[in-house]
Amino acid sequence: MSPPLALDIDGTLTTPEGTIDPRFFDALSSWDAPVVLATGKAFPYPVALCHFIGIPQTVVAENGGVALAAERVSFVGDRERARAVAEEFEARGGDLGWGAADTVNRWRETEIAANVTADEALLREVAGEYGMQVYDTGYAYHITVPGVEKGTGLREVADILDMDVGEFVAVGDSENDVSLFEVVGESYALSNADGPARAAADALVDGGYSEGTLSVLASLR
Ligand SMILES: [Mg+2]
Repeated sequence: MSPPLALDIDGTLTTPEGTIDPRFFDALSSWDAPVVLATGKAFPYPVALCHFIGIPQTVVAENGGVALAAERVSFVGDRERARAVAEEFEARGGDLGWGAADTVNRWRETEIAANVTADEALLREVAGEYGMQVYDTGYAYHITVPGVEKGTGLREVADILDMDVGEFVAVGDSENDVSLFEVVGESYALSNADGPARAAADALVDGGYSEGTLSVLASLR
């Protein structure tokens, strides 16, 4: 029996070019234990990915702001406060950096994300004034409620599934995976991981991105 998995998406299931490695369609649909996709992306993204891979919709989205398991949705973020930070940031000349359609935030239910091209110092200053924190995932800055993290989201998923969160194995690559690494039984940081993720992981993987994650899955099978 394989262990249940908690997998980050960006930098973990993706190639260095940012696309999902197609080998995960087989690797995850045939995994004989729960697979949780845990991401900073807006809620619909991991739900859609589960749908198209053909696995149950079991996700932690928006860095823990929302969790879904066994058709139960759990919200802990504060979209209104995050939206207020974004509006004040823009009023002071900041730009979230996603263009007019802003598909990054359009369906986001519990936080707001800014492009890494955004003015980080100004963003942190405004977020601090509203009692919010800014997470740097390497792909975006996330404005979220302090204490809302992927790790708390995974605990919620494990509770819903009546599982012990310590049974999970996590793979990730950035600061927002640290809380995930702290709650699971076994954690792996990929070679493309940032400093905080490396420091928090139980093991460092030789390979990076999807290649590294596939090597971890092969060793766990
Ligand atoms: Mg990542």
